[in-house]
Amino acid sequence: MNLPEKTTWLADCFYLSGRFQAQVGIVGDDTGRIAATPPALEITNAVKLKNRAMLPGLVNGHSHAFQRVIRGRTEYRTRNAKDSFWTWREMMYSAANRLSPEDVYDASRMAFLEMALSGVTAVGEFHYLHNQPDGTPYDDPNLLAKEVIRAARDVGLRIALLRVAYARAGYQTDPNPQQARFIELDPEIYLDRLTQLRSSLGKMDGDAWVGVAPHSVRAVPLPYLKEIVAFANTQIMPIHMHVAEQPAEVSACIEEFGRSPVALLETEGLLSERFTGVHVIHITPKAAGMLARARALVCACPTTERNLGDGIVPVDLFFKNGVRVSLGTDSQIQIDLLEDARELEYHLRLQKGERAILVDQNTEEQSALAARLFECATVNGAQSIGLPGGTLDKGNPADFFTVDLNDASIAGASPDNLLSSIVFSLSKTAVKDVIVGGKKIIEDGRHNDQEEIVGKFNSLQKRLWG
Ligand SMILES: [Zn+2]
Repeated sequence: MNLPEKTTWLADCFYLSGRFQAQVGIVGDDTGRIAATPPALEITNAVKLKNRAMLPGLVNGHSHAFQRVIRGRTEYRTRNAKDSFWTWREMMYSAANRLSPEDVYDASRMAFLEMALSGVTAVGEFHYLHNQPDGTPYDDPNLLAKEVIRAARDVGLRIALLRVAYARAGYQTDPNPQQARFIELDPEIYLDRLTQLRSSLGKMDGDAWVGVAPHSVRAVPLPYLKEIVAFANTQIMPIHMHVAEQPAEVSACIEEFGRSPVALLETEGLLSERFTGVHVIHITPKAAGMLARARALVCACPTTERNLGDGIVPVDLFFKNGVRVSLGTDSQIQIDLLEDARELEYHLRLQKGERAILVDQNTEEQSALAARLFECATVNGAQSIGLPGGTLDKGNPADFFTVDLNDASIAGASPDNLLSSIVFSLSKTAVKDVIVGGKKIIEDGRHNDQEEIVGKFNSLQKRLWG
């Protein structure tokens, strides 16, 4: 077999079907897909990645890229009697209202760079900054969405721009002037702008696409919600929505509709295999059954959820019911999707005083728990954002990353516990190469534009915060 050098990679091992296989290479075709995974013996010309393991790229299912600007700037007690998600939200809003379109690009590029450096190859961006700070739309009402997409493409990540619908502050709640940048009052305006954004992307070989994201039951009235979900279903688009993040959101929903958010979504027929509920913390076992019957997904964001004091995602309940769980970095307090993966298990360990809670009881394989958590960070994320892929199987996009087998955080692992070492212990500095669609975006732990991206972000932060 004579393979072109630029599209063949050979590492010490690669991860496929729940285990590491040694002496196998990846051949990429000229469309950026995996054409074959031949044994090393059949490969004559290859990019040799020495002391490396190759793994499918991580998929970050829930991100608000601009929130990178408030990292480290909300970790103190405010003058409120009690600090919570709601007091944090006020601080986040005041930063959101000070960003120009260029700032949105610079902040997003910083967040996406950090994602790429940690092995992420695709992101679902839950984008709700639409208008100018006073609520007037820009001449191009998708200007800010396009800035975020441009940032992802310049870094080299695939992006599902999950365009957010936001119409009100809440049930029987006065408008909040801090939300003026998010508001699009009726579904026709929203769908018109969504359609415009989609056609502006054209056919970009699957590196950027759109989805529908009603912000929450709180922010979108029911008729509006039904109309945009129906549209997404006819167009086969992913649908993402914040669900049951905070107890107050659940009680407001019960007050307005007499039922919880998940029960409302089910009775209105809005759950489907295209639907992802983000967070889904404060729910009952009955609601988990509803999500399972509809084949809906959950996106957990445990690093953010613990930072905001949201609560613990009942992933044990989801797994028991067969609900697929993906992962998101959400507020960007820390960008490390493998940390999110291990927290799914760790938070339940702390809560229940047990270990190995999320493991499938029918298996005795040492890395079975890690494989399940890794699936959340890859396959489930891809399914949630409408990306075919998430594994290194032939025909999938050539999206993968490598880790240094000699990195201090995983050195000494053997093939049967390498995945557990990676999922539970990997330092981000062990990530060396990141390839998206056959194109290298990170080489030896660095991005080509890293200095410029960080420099611009430093200036932005100086201007915002002094
Ligand atoms: Zn969110």
